[in-house]
Amino acid sequence: MSSNHQIPSYLTPHATGPWNVYLEQIDRVTPYLGSLSRWVETLKRPKRILIVDVPIERDDGTIAHFEGYRVQHNTSRGPGKGGVRFHQDVTLSEVMALSAWMTIKNSAVNVPYGGAKGGIRVDPKTLSRGELMRMTRRYTSEIGIIIGPDKDIPAPDVNTNEQTMAWMMDTYSMNEGRTATGVVTGKPISLGGSLGRREATGRGVFVVGCEAAAKKGVTIAGAKIAVQGFGNVGGIAARLFAEAGSKIVAVQDHGGTIFHSNGFDVPKLLDHVAAHGSVAGFDGIEAVLPNNEFWSVNCDIMIPAALEQQITEANANEIKAKIILEGANGPTTPEADDILRDRGVLVVPDVIANAGGVTVSYFEWVQDFSSYFWTEDEINNRLTRIMKEAFSSVWQVTEDKKVSLRTAAFIIGCTRVLQAREVRGLYP
Ligand code: GLU
Repeated sequence: MSSNHQIPSYLTPHATGPWNVYLEQIDRVTPYLGSLSRWVETLKRPKRILIVDVPIERDDGTIAHFEGYRVQHNTSRGPGKGGVRFHQDVTLSEVMALSAWMTIKNSAVNVPYGGAKGGIRVDPKTLSRGELMRMTRRYTSEIGIIIGPDKDIPAPDVNTNEQTMAWMMDTYSMNEGRTATGVVTGKPISLGGSLGRREATGRGVFVVGCEAAAKKGVTIAGAKIAVQGFGNVGGIAARLFAEAGSKIVAVQDHGGTIFHSNGFDVPKLLDHVAAHGSVAGFDGIEAVLPNNEFWSVNCDIMIPAALEQQITEANANEIKAKIILEGANGPTTPEADDILRDRGVLVVPDVIANAGGVTVSYFEWVQDFSSYFWTEDEINNRLTRIMKEAFSSVWQVTEDKKVSLRTAAFIIGCTRVLQAREVRGLYP
């Protein structure tokens, strides 16, 4: 990876984290931006970073402090938009990269947002429900100075859900002295949430997966699929593929790696994970595999739907799949991208593959503003249309310019952002 980037002084100079991966992706797209490349530095610096201390009183009376972030990478095309992640490994570099990928994603599928992301460095499994609520509320209050329905709109991400969004919406509303449903998306239906939002990311992965399979001559019925991460993204995508006749042959999560050459009973596996928190202990399996063997499993489609930097130069050569659908954000490093490309593996990048979530977040925000709610069919049909159109535009650029789908998606995404930047001009 090139190391000539200007790393901001607030990051460790030799960090090789997700922000560096993102910078490398920007370097790869820059030659295709024409005269807009004059503005490209704007994409290499987040517009605004807020680091907050989040203190809570634990149930036992002690005080705990957590590190919280909200990064607004870009707001050229509209308010900031992106999820909030609770994870013990959250770092500023990671939240910066995730916010930047939101900028590209929102632009690539043409929803009228910039990009933002938030996170707290905490293992939420170590907190009681009350502690989790107090932490979420204090974090929301601390970032309340920069979020808002027309400023920056958080949503769920890793380890956050509808309940988290309900607490965030309530805290913001209490501080504002009015009920502001539009401040977050991914809310419960009873609070102005949208039908179909919970499944939207997984559904989007499925829709673009079907498009990619058609291009690669892979038949969905009978296709073998390996999924890493069995939460809201991997679990739902697996369910939809299984309903379409695919075989989910391997699943890996924090509990281990399970394998069944004929495919799992996915509804049963989903019930097991809901009850036990991971795939560990599921009895409908053929074998438990060592974790590193997940990557070499014999399959047609692989869906990394967990965390960043999972597919690297260390395992990219082992992958047997013909198609990789990035349900997670940033799962593939640039070095692995090159290896996979040389080997003819089609990587459908995160900024398209998992854009279904933010697309239905956009629908939710529009519904909240107009106080008029759509049917689930309307939502799913519009989502499918947007995902197919986005995939087909990216495919076209791939063919025209002979670049990877990632660079193609970045060409479309960055061009729209920089066009907005140019026409707005700099202030003052
Ligand atoms: N966290 C999701 C993502 O990474 C959804 C963001 C949103 O809905 O704003 O795309």
